[in-house]
Amino acid sequence: MNPLHYVDSNMDNLILDLQTLIKQPSVSAKNEGIEECANLVAKMLKKSGINAEVLRLKKGVAPIVFGEIKSKQNPAKTMMFYNHYDVQPAEPFELWVDPPFSGTRKGNKIFGRGATDDKGELITRIKAVEACLKTTGDVPCNIKFVIEGEEETGSAHIEEYLKKYKKKFSSDGVIWEFGYVDAKNRPIIGLGMKGLLFVELSVTESIRDAHSSLAVLIKNPAWRLIEAVTTLRDSNGKILIKDWYDEVTPLSKKDLKLIDSEPFDENVFKKEFGIKSFLGNKKGLDAKKALVGDATCNIAGFVSGYTGDGAKTILPGSALVKIDFRLVPKMDPKTQVMRLKNHLKSKGFSDVKIKIFHGEAAARTDSSSPFVSQVKEAADKVFGKSILNVSNAGTGPMYPFVEILNASCISIGSTYMFSRIHSPNEFARIDLLKKTTKCICLIMQNFAKH
Ligand SMILES: [Zn+2]
Repeated sequence: MNPLHYVDSNMDNLILDLQTLIKQPSVSAKNEGIEECANLVAKMLKKSGINAEVLRLKKGVAPIVFGEIKSKQNPAKTMMFYNHYDVQPAEPFELWVDPPFSGTRKGNKIFGRGATDDKGELITRIKAVEACLKTTGDVPCNIKFVIEGEEETGSAHIEEYLKKYKKKFSSDGVIWEFGYVDAKNRPIIGLGMKGLLFVELSVTESIRDAHSSLAVLIKNPAWRLIEAVTTLRDSNGKILIKDWYDEVTPLSKKDLKLIDSEPFDENVFKKEFGIKSFLGNKKGLDAKKALVGDATCNIAGFVSGYTGDGAKTILPGSALVKIDFRLVPKMDPKTQVMRLKNHLKSKGFSDVKIKIFHGEAAARTDSSSPFVSQVKEAADKVFGKSILNVSNAGTGPMYPFVEILNASCISIGSTYMFSRIHSPNEFARIDLLKKTTKCICLIMQNFAKH
């Protein structure tokens, strides 16, 4: 039997194991079932023939489950699977048709919190390795599993873990924790993610709100903050902070070609959000390029004064704005913070207070790297067709893997676009779990060959 046949004939076991994982709640936001789930995952790895241990950083930090199996035929190359065993809270419970931690199967679907994100994805990796071990007595290359328990709350300690266990975790390539499958059943192979800088700007003028007749004398902090924020970008979204784009390199010809070939239905997208046009009137390739490669300065929230029903004539004492900047490769969050501070100072806004919440750099694997074609070839074989996505428009903790382990990351997986991850009635599609498991088998083989 070859590994792919093994996957075909062992789907019942995969489903049972996934249901077992779903039945163990592991909500990181509430520290519910984290230890139990880590132990369960370690047990499951061992059951599949993979050595496993539970690693700890310090008290109060969720453990990482580390799995490892050395290859007899090719001990020179190592592939890592990065996944997470924690899940989002299941609330609101009343909107679930079946209990969120039941793992109920209905036809081609398994329902439950984590069914796809990320327990479903994790099980495809475990079962792919098991398929190799059971049919060949070996794995095509060394395999490592790094399965964390804080992903859904922002992976606060992944960088520290990677630093502490740098040697233990050392790998040549990382398969990311998830990958989307589009409405036409094509897996989207993601080569990168944007970075993120989240800040809060605030202005306090007086110790309390005042009668608005006093606006002739008392300065309004909302106006002040609006004036400051207006200097950050132009109406087309271009960021006006000095040197903001200095290190950024333009997209390569190859990337542009890939972006051009990506399917993107502008009209469906606009309809989804009830909008008539895109920022800066972008169309066609420009819209797709923006999703992959444009930095943003987005107002996430603006609070000041009275926003309740009817009229209230007050002059607010303070104003606050929350801003997220998406960063593109080579933008260093620390440098960008400095540039933001310098910008406000040089424009005369030294009174605007800055609070930094979160900074994470972007990561992107070069589309011409052999790792990319190894994954693409495997995906095409199993799914019939796949799509290369130069970068996701969102953010994930990919950068520390690239920076600390010096390994490129590629995301591929079984996450059906409409599988309601993070929402009630999350489900995994069994057909996609099966295809992804086979795809992972082939990826390991292709990766080991070159
Ligand atoms: Zn998630």
